[in-house]
Amino acid sequence: MARQTGPVCRLCRREGMKLFLKGERCLSPKCAIEKRAFPPGLHGRRSQFRQSQSDYATQLREKQRARRIYGVFERQFRRYYDMALNMRGQTGANLLTLLERRLDNIVYRLGYADSRAQARQLINHGHVERNGRRLDIASALVDEGDVIGVAERSRNNGYFGTLREVLEHRSVPSWLSLNAAEMQGTVLSLPTREEIQVPLQEQLIVEFYSR
Ligand code: SF4
Repeated sequence: MARQTGPVCRLCRREGMKLFLKGERCLSPKCAIEKRAFPPGLHGRRSQFRQSQSDYATQLREKQRARRIYGVFERQFRRYYDMALNMRGQTGANLLTLLERRLDNIVYRLGYADSRAQARQLINHGHVERNGRRLDIASALVDEGDVIGVAERSRNNGYFGTLREVLEHRSVPSWLSLNAAEMQGTVLSLPTREEIQVPLQEQLIVEFYSR
């Protein structure tokens, strides 16, 4: 499976905003955006003063931002867009709903992992189950009613053993519910745009692909 390697904080600096790709570090003063709030590269400092940006550049940046937040590569992202286009309703909102339905995103939203990258790792290592059966595909799309849990044999290992207490105080989005004691989360409904808390203007992404 392809995955993002290299320094991820550069991605936040490129997008000019926190994308929360590194868990707790993102909330600490060590965050690169706190220390160097300008684009990476030799001319990064100078380019931050560039005022105008073409429509194309604005749309491209929004699309890249979405890809980076969810950790999705271009080809797969384009596939989600095509799926969203063929669904009923607004394409942009459909696209975000599809991205939110990814298993790695659900694992992150439920608090089993600090970041989507860590969620992918937990899934790849076989710690996550859907409806009681192991599922090790991070891009799998969950459905309404699915129960996403931590595999029973993993629940008392070092990482998950200490996590249970953290989950007791964890709040999850309104479209999910979490049973911290059992380490199981249920997808109550598929999220609407209003329930998806990401700083994205999805209409710009639709415009990018509609050129
Ligand atoms: Fe982005 Fe987190 Fe790195 Fe800050 S610490 S730049 S939010 S990945």
